[in-house]
Amino acid sequence: MADPSTALIHHPYTPPAGFAAPQPGVFKASTVLFPDVAAMRNFEWKDKTAYTYGLHGTPTTYLLEERLCTLEGGLQCLLLPSGLAAIANVALSLLRSGDEVLIPDNAYGPNQVLAAGELKSWGISHRFYDPLNPLDLVAKISPQTRLVWLEAPGSVTLEFPDLCELVQVCQARGVRTALDNTWGAGLAFAPFDLVPGAAPALGVDISVQALTKYPSGGGDVLMGSVITRDAALHMKLKLTHMRLGFGVGANDVEAVLRSLPSLALRYRAHDEAARELAHWCQARSEFVQILHPALPDSPGHAHWRDLCQSGFGGAAGLFSVIFHPRYSQHQIDAFCDRLKLFRLGYSWGGPMSLVVPYDLASIRSPWPAHLKPGTLVRFSVGLEAVADLQADLAQALTLI
Ligand SMILES: *Cc1c(COP(=O)(O)O)cnc(C)c1O
Repeated sequence: MADPSTALIHHPYTPPAGFAAPQPGVFKASTVLFPDVAAMRNFEWKDKTAYTYGLHGTPTTYLLEERLCTLEGGLQCLLLPSGLAAIANVALSLLRSGDEVLIPDNAYGPNQVLAAGELKSWGISHRFYDPLNPLDLVAKISPQTRLVWLEAPGSVTLEFPDLCELVQVCQARGVRTALDNTWGAGLAFAPFDLVPGAAPALGVDISVQALTKYPSGGGDVLMGSVITRDAALHMKLKLTHMRLGFGVGANDVEAVLRSLPSLALRYRAHDEAARELAHWCQARSEFVQILHPALPDSPGHAHWRDLCQSGFGGAAGLFSVIFHPRYSQHQIDAFCDRLKLFRLGYSWGGPMSLVVPYDLASIRSPWPAHLKPGTLVRFSVGLEAVADLQADLAQALTLI
């Protein structure tokens, strides 16, 4: 085989086996090679006993899936190209024309937009329920309800629901539950074991995470996961995942694998800094309300305390403030513009602190009774020194 074109593609050398390092190797493939035709016909990708095609898994994706199962206390995992794709995979797999999905009224916005867009156009209806009122969920579950979404706490307003009660309501009626567990990240509480030691276990059926946030931790990867504890449910979700062609890039998987060992340390650091800043904001007269589940007067605090103290008591790095109504939107925009360390940008979970002003009236109508009137700004606390972040807030506040 003298021609280098051929020789470089079909090279006979294989390095010795047994290489070991703290970080696993990265396997990249669309094509996966088979030793013979019989293997090509017989290899089974569904149970991770073999490899057949890049989309159906590589050693790199299998590793991340298993580690995420350990993190969340699940048994099966799917990886998707974003957190939103993970949400969509659950909906497309479990809902059919004529079905209904119930979504908390404070749910991650794009989940609501998916329901109002594609799901609606395919004859799948959706209704919003008040996650702080389990009786509202009871009243809204109908014979058509096939899926109930849960989020703890809600996006932007961070109300913490009674997750155990909501799950019990659904279980008693045979309705599947899917939790968007991005905030908890598998650390604040155990989604499949909400009451540690309870037999049988009380938990959600499906836990979805935007790995984009804390598991990636870099602000540079988009990825999602769908974790289950039920093999049949997993297979249903996996077949949808396969038919829709969802896949993730090996380099992105590597980035998450590299970040996972520091996840708990980072989560705790984000959490401590956010609590310190939220407390500091409580003493400022510019704000009428601070939304952070660990603050005693934040909506749903008791539910957070009861659930999360049974885990390690974590509370992520997010909090929102409601500015006194005397401030105009213009003044609040100027405050956000004047911040130097808190940068303007969506998403969270990376090293850099971020700020987003929200027009809450346009996303929550009517205005929730548990929120004071005013203008909401959400902070995502990164890994900068807390004193510097506090000074940044102070300098931007003195100017408005
Ligand atoms: C960011 C986020 C998502 C979606 O993640 P992407 O990877 O950006 O699609 C889903 N749910 C919650 C609660 C989020 O914060």
